[in-house]
Amino acid sequence: MAGQRCIALIAHDLKKDDMADFAREHQQALSQFRIVATGTTGGRVQEACPDLSVIRLKSGPLGGDQQIGAMIATGEVHMLIFFIDPLTSLPHDVDVKALTRLATVYDIPMALNRATAEMLSDFC
Ligand code: PGA
Repeated sequence: MAGQRCIALIAHDLKKDDMADFAREHQQALSQFRIVATGTTGGRVQEACPDLSVIRLKSGPLGGDQQIGAMIATGEVHMLIFFIDPLTSLPHDVDVKALTRLATVYDIPMALNRATAEMLSDFC
């Protein structure tokens, strides 16, 4: 898989259905990437798209978001689709801030909502 671009997928709380739908609709675009995801999100995407190969990291609250942050910092993740759930309370706030910061520092494309993710996938 040398040289293949890597996309990271994370969906918080009630956004997991949205991520599964997004992955199903954009399976062709996603198939061009190595795919990593936080644990539960990855499971939902894999279930929705059995033909994709999804590498599942730890669940977000157990460090999965930060594993993806480390992969951004080391140049192993090239695009981030991160469906945050703005209608839930603050426990994920630190992860949102950390990943927003790293995606900005390392200047990788990042989608925080479905509309942006759809646009990014049109360019893939
Ligand atoms: P999950 O992690 O995909 O394992 O739910 C995402 C998160 O909640 O940060």
